[in-house]
Parts: sequence; structure tokens; C-alpha cells
Amino acid sequence: MTGIFDTRIEYLKGVGPQKAELLNKELNIFTYGEMLQHYPFRYEDRTKFFKIRELSDDLENVQVIARIKKVELIGTGGKKRLVAHVFDDTGEMEMTWFKGIQWVQRKLPPGAAFIFLGKPAQFGRKWSMAHPEMEPVTSANEQRNNFQPVYSTTEKLRARFLDSRGISKIQEVLVPAVYPHIPETLSLEILNQYQLLGKQESIRQIHFPTAPDLLHRARKRLKFEEFFYLQLRLLKMKVTRTEKSRGQILSSTELLTDFYKNHIPFELTNAQKRVIREAYTDMKSGKQMNRLTQGDVGSGKTMVAFICTLIAISSGAQACLMAPTEILANQHYEGLKEYSEMMGIKIALLTGSTKKSARKVIHEELLNGELKILIGTHALLEDIVQFQNLALAIVDEQHRFGVAQRAKLWAKNEAFIPHVLVMTATPIPRTLAMTLYGDLDVSVIDELPAGRKPIQTVHRYDKDRLKVFGFINEEVKKGRQVYIVYPLIEESETMDLKNLMDGYESISRAFPQYPLSIVHGGMKSDAKDYEMQRFIKGETKIMVATTVIEVGVNVPNASVMIIENAERFGLSQLHQLRGRVGRGAEQSYCVLMSKYELSKDSKVRLETMVRTNDGFEIADVDLRLRGPGDMMGTQQSGITDLLIADLSKDAPILTLARDAAQQLLANDPELSQPENSAILRQVKQQKATAVNWSRIS
Ligand code: ADP
Ligand code: MG
Repeated sequence: MTGIFDTRIEYLKGVGPQKAELLNKELNIFTYGEMLQHYPFRYEDRTKFFKIRELSDDLENVQVIARIKKVELIGTGGKKRLVAHVFDDTGEMEMTWFKGIQWVQRKLPPGAAFIFLGKPAQFGRKWSMAHPEMEPVTSANEQRNNFQPVYSTTEKLRARFLDSRGISKIQEVLVPAVYPHIPETLSLEILNQYQLLGKQESIRQIHFPTAPDLLHRARKRLKFEEFFYLQLRLLKMKVTRTEKSRGQILSSTELLTDFYKNHIPFELTNAQKRVIREAYTDMKSGKQMNRLTQGDVGSGKTMVAFICTLIAISSGAQACLMAPTEILANQHYEGLKEYSEMMGIKIALLTGSTKKSARKVIHEELLNGELKILIGTHALLEDIVQFQNLALAIVDEQHRFGVAQRAKLWAKNEAFIPHVLVMTATPIPRTLAMTLYGDLDVSVIDELPAGRKPIQTVHRYDKDRLKVFGFINEEVKKGRQVYIVYPLIEESETMDLKNLMDGYESISRAFPQYPLSIVHGGMKSDAKDYEMQRFIKGETKIMVATTVIEVGVNVPNASVMIIENAERFGLSQLHQLRGRVGRGAEQSYCVLMSKYELSKDSKVRLETMVRTNDGFEIADVDLRLRGPGDMMGTQQSGITDLLIADLSKDAPILTLARDAAQQLLANDPELSQPENSAILRQVKQQKATAVNWSRIS
């Protein structure tokens, strides 16, 4: 390939050193190649003309063809404005100018027809546009076919005439200059099979569309290509990993049988059984397991984790479970300790706050093999933590861990990389999972334990508070317990704390007869524990808290979750909070309290919560609202580097691209066939820049 794409942008005609420096600083564009990939983010449709009667408030910039009826100057001094009354065959409207009045006035002879472009606004019953762009109607422009590209730019660039138009002008020079050098990066076979536009034509259309369907095909092709190479990389990683990494064979089920026969407190759900079977199949296969288990809140992941550790321990090996926070690690420890003790298995907890003396014991017992299960936080990753034979590492809430940290876990056993089971309680949309975890096998616990009644969720406004209090009272009288949760966001901590305290006050006034608990981040941890314990034991009936309880507690008797200022929570957080109830046999409720005025997104969030309990559906909406860049874990994944493809909108293209990548690797795993040489070249080139990925494979 020629080096033309590496040419520095300052050498392009019309750019020069000063503009180049700005482009470097503002848009991170240094080379021809980078400029070429600065794709428009939107197009203005200059093929469509609106009639005056068709105008409406929610239109952005539109074009109207109208004739001048009369032009007048209104007001004096600073308030002076020029108003052109114009009309078409459906009505009249006004065009107004506050600046450049004299210059405009000369251009508006009565009777002449113009194309006006601007955002329509309505005053009273009359439509108007302020400072519209305008040009006289000629036979050419009335039927032109023109999608105007809109490029992202910045204030500083605009000040130097590098607005969207200015960037478009650069592309007008650049695209023809490099056009013949643009290599095709997909194979003929893939182009044909998926009916994709060629690369050269796609680049040309993306910057200078000639027709809507061609633009559409160009965008599709470039998105496909991005997804294709991302998937190819992930799939190759997976292949390399499975080939390279032998896994310890864990086939004994001795402890498992004992547990099933003598100790298990409930019948496993079919989904739990299936996931355990999938994990067991991996663990006895001789290849290293890398499996992601997605399971909604309350689906019983803890039990699955425990049973998997039994598989490891049956073969004389050890297991660890790593959680992202101390609270979570604690909770897992408490949960698993109960089961371990039944079985006489030694288990310990290691976090940042584990005392030095206790640490020493843990380190020793890990090395001599006495300690079978270690639960903890990132503290587990420290080099000093060495096992006799770590065979299984379970990672909870994977999306908060970087890939590099996962690699650190792998290094804990030199003979065999430990089997890895990743668990996540926040379901991830399939598209995101494919990309974030494309190198993992995926299991889904898609069933809740029997006897659970779906939680009923309602949305209430602050003015309904008395009724909500009445409802709380009824439930507590029936013997249930209630959570009332307030938001706590760091930036407004003091205000939130005041909200919480005010809430606590009014609740204690409303329910003097019921003992209350209060828990918030500002409390010492033993004070928090004490309050939690009182609630767990049922001594207190109502728990007033901030989101610290999000992950902390499991109280089956609690059947009501009230979320205050629900509009301020994200969807996945609302869903997690709701998951705190519905854990017992009683009908549970979630009440989302909010103010009356809501943003569009808040409305969608609350409606979604009311409509469904399905964590996957909720995750999909969340992805659409927030975009993948905002979702946790995406930073390390390369997703945020996508130039044109969008995980939240382009799922169908992603699926196609993944299929294509899979098929390709099945037929030509080394990409050694001549017809795939273009793909191999592209992979090699990307490898040189993608440090993150090569480190792992
Ligand atoms: P999560 O998937 O959210 O981590 P947990 O493992 O905390 O869920 O389980 C939630 C509750 O369901 C716990 O009280 C657990 O004991 C119970 N549970 C788990 N599996 C079953 C089952 N098969 N039948 C009945 N209850 C179960
Ligand atoms: Mg859990």
C-alpha cells in the first residue's frame, strides 16, 4: 500500500500549517487517512421542500420555496428588524433579520421566489424563520439532488472557517487526490455475499452522496467493515486462547453428589442446572474455560458459583471469587460460607481491610492447600497471593473489570491457566455482549426460582405521597418490611443527605408506631451493619437508605421498594434496586416516586420499569438511551473507537459482520488463501496499532 494516507494533513492544498495545527489539536486529525475517516455525522436533506402549511415545531432546519409579498422595517434602534412577508400556495409566513438588514433588503424584490432554509418557529398563529439562508429559485436548484454532509467541528475551528462547510471543502480536495489509492479491505466473496458497496465508492458517497440509496449502502458497508474487523479480532483471540491454553481436567463430582444428596436447601431451577452442566463440560474438557454467565437479579447465581467451586475442590484444587467492591465481596462471603460450612470446606475473605495477621494466615493456607475457597476484591490480584493449585476463578460483575485484570488472574497458576467463570447481574444486551465479551462463551440463567411472583411496579408523583404512605402502612400491618431509597450522587452529596434526613423525619412522623432503620454512606461501617442487622432480623419495619443497599442485603420478608426521585436514577440501577424485593413468597411491589415535570429520557426509563421485569429488555432500552460509550466497561473494549458503527442502533449489521467473520475463520483460519489477502493485510495493519488486544492473545 502506498504511504499517501500517512501524509501529514498540512500538505493538502488549502490546509497549510496553521489550520493543520488546529485540526491536530481540536479533532486529533494529523494525516490524510484520519481526515478521510472524519465522516459526516448527519446529512441535511436538501432534496425536500416544505409547504408553509406543513411546518411544525419539531422540525429542525427545513427548506421552503416562497415568494416575496412585502418587505418592511419594524421597530427602531437596537430593536429594528427586517420582516419579509412571503407566501406559497398553502399560506403565508415571515422571514426576519436583525442584522445585515440593508444588505438583505436589497436582495428581496417583491414577487421574486426564493428557497429559504432555517428552523421554523411559531409566534401566535404565524410561522417565521430568523436569519434563514436563502437563494433565488432557478430551474437547476429546484430539482437538485443534494444531501449536504454535516461534520463535527469545534468553536475554535469555526473561528478559522473550518466549520462543517470548511471541512467539506477539504474533503473536496482530499477525496479525489487519494481516491485511486483507496484499497479494498474486504474480500470479493464477502462483498458479493452481503451485497456491499466497494470501499472506494463508499468513501466517495459518505462525503459526497449522490443519491439516498447509495449513501445508505455506503454507510452500511463502512459499518459492516468496522464490526467485521472487531469481531475478527475477538474471534481470533478466542481461537488462539482455546488452542494455546490447556485446562486442568476437573472431572470428579464427589463433593457435588454429597451436596445434592445431603445439603442443598432447594431444588435448582432448570436454568441453574443447565449453566452448571455447561460449566462442568468445559472444566472436564482439558481446555481452559472462559465462560460468561448472565443472570438477572435473584436468579440464583451464588448457588451456581458455589457448585462450580465444588467441582474444582472435588479434584483437589482451589477456587476463588472476585467481586468489584467490599460490600459485594462480603455478601458473597456470607452466602458461600453458609454452604461451605455445611460441607466442611475452608473458606476465607480477603479485602483491603483484612488485618495483616489474618492475611498472613490466608497466604499460608492458600499455599499449603488447606484453604479451598478465597473470596475477595482486587486484593486477590496482588502478586503475594499465591495458591497451591488455583483451578477456578469466578469473577462477579465482570464489566467493572478490565481485560488486563482478567489476565492477571490467569497468571495465578503456572501449570494451567485457571478456568474462568464470569458472572454478571446486569444483563448486557446481546450486541454489546458479543463485542465486549466476544472472546467468551456465554451462558444465560433465564429463569427465576419457582414461586416468585413478578414484582408489580407503579409510577407515582410526589403529590400522591399520602396514598403511598397508606400503602406502606397496609403492607407493614401484614407483617412485611419496606425499603425507601433516596438518590445519592457525589456532586450533590450534602443536598441529597438533607433530602434523606427530611424523608426520614417525615416517615417517622407518619409512622410513629413502627421502628425504622436508616443507612447512608456517611455512617461508620459498624453503625451501618448494626442498622442492617436490625432490619434483617425484622426488628425494624422500614429501611430508609441511600443506594448503599443496592447490592448489600437479601431480606426475603421485604416486599416493598419505594424509590424517591426515581427520575434521577439510571435504568440498570433502578432494576438492581427493584431486585432487592421479590425474594420471598409474598407479592412484592416497587413504587417509583418522581416529580411531575420529567425529561423525555426519564419518562422512558420510568415507563420501561413499569412495563417489564425483564433485565435483558431493560438493558436494551438502557443501551439505546445512553449509547454504548457510557456503559460500564466499554472504554477498555475498543467499542468507543468505532467511527461510524453504533452498537445501540446497528445490531443487525453487527450480526451479519459476526457471521461473516465466523465463516471466514472456519474456512481459512490463518487467512492464508490468496482471495483473503486484503483481509490479512488489514488485520496486520490494525495489529500494529491495537496494543490492548495483542497483549491478551
Ligand atoms: P443473584 O443471582 O441475584 O446473585 P442470589 O444467588 O442472591 O441471586 O439468589 C437469590 C435468592 O434466591 C437467594 O435467597 C437464594 O438462596 C435463592 N435461590 C437461589 N436459587 C434458588 C432456587 N433454585 N430455588 C429457590 N431459591 C433459590
Ligand atoms: Mg448475587
